[in-house]
Order: sequence, then structure tokens, then C-alpha cells
Amino acid sequence: SSTTDFLRAHIRTVPDWPAPGVQFRDITPLLQDPAVFRVLIDAFVQRYREAAMRVDVVAGLDARGFILGSVVAYQLGVGFVPIRKKGKLPFTTVEETYELEYGSATVELHTDAVKGGDRVLLMDDLIATGGTMMAGKKLLEKLGAHVTEGAAIVDLPELGGSARLRASGMPLFTLLDFA
Ligand code: 5GP
Repeated sequence: SSTTDFLRAHIRTVPDWPAPGVQFRDITPLLQDPAVFRVLIDAFVQRYREAAMRVDVVAGLDARGFILGSVVAYQLGVGFVPIRKKGKLPFTTVEETYELEYGSATVELHTDAVKGGDRVLLMDDLIATGGTMMAGKKLLEKLGAHVTEGAAIVDLPELGGSARLRASGMPLFTLLDFA
């Protein structure tokens, strides 16, 4: 669509970052231009304003999911909760460890961030292997919340993450993909 093409044109591909062979999809140009930022945010807000998609809270994944999720939450009139890398949240937390290409990562969520039965929109900028979003979903489910959908700007379908997430029963909404 024209929105997809417009947004895609504002993603910067940085070769060999953070490691040789990686094509990093840099979303910062989407945030920097106010007209583009508005188109980006409105694409999510329109979707979750629909009655059938109504969410109670937006959860954002560290760190670019904070930027998107907080603005979307504000526009929807719901609260925002951060899912952070281990060691950053001050109150009691639940945590989830997941495997990376090299080593592992742990993310945390405050135990009072969501309530049992809450309908949660889980946001990040990009889905690669899907490990980060899966860990976020597990944290929210530990507290009895329901992830109504995972949302991101970019999907990298060749890495299989979005397919794995969907196979696990999580609906996903992404604005564009890079093969
Ligand atoms: P996954 O856990 O799906 O393998 O990786 C996704 C996570 O890593 C997201 O939190 C995302 O911010 C980050 N990430 C991995 N590759 C890229 C990339 O090319 N561009 C951006 N913007 N983030 C990436």
C-alpha cells in the first residue's frame, strides 16, 4: 500500500552493524520527521481504536518498543507498561530468560504492571527471530494477562520469528517486511 511504501522509504539500512553481515534496519528516520512519525503512529492507533481490537494496556519492549508503545497508549487513552532488560526495574518483578544467537537475555516486568484478564497490546519496532516478543508474551501471561496482539513496524519473515509467534497462538500486526 502507499502507507507501507512511504514508511519503508524512511527506514535506513545500515550494512555490517552491529556485526559483519548484518543489515540493520534503522527506524530512527521514521521518528525524526514529524509527518512520517504521525503516519507511523496513526497506522497503529487506527487499528486499535476499532471496537473489536480494544486493549486495556500497551506493553513496550526495551527500548524502541517504549518509543512506539508510549505514544500509541497515550493516543488510545490507556496506560503504558515497560518490559525492561534485567536489572532496571525497581519494584518486584517477574522475569523470563530466552536464548540469543550468542548467549541469553533476561527481561523483566513489574508484578503490578497488568492484572489478570487485562487485554494487552505488546509492541516492539522489529521482529527477527521472535525471541524478544515471545519472552514479553510469557511475562504478561505469568501475570494472567492476555496478549491480544503483538505489533511491530518491521517483520523479517525469513528469520521465521513471525511464523513461530503466530504458530504459538499470538496474532501479529506488522506494517512492512524486508525479505
Ligand atoms: P528477535 O528477538 O526477534 O530476534 O529480535 C528483535 C529485537 O532485536 C527487537 O527488540 C529489535 O529492536 C532488535 N533488532 C534486531 N534486529 C534489528 C534490526 O535490524 N533493526 C532494529 N531496529 N532492531 C533490531
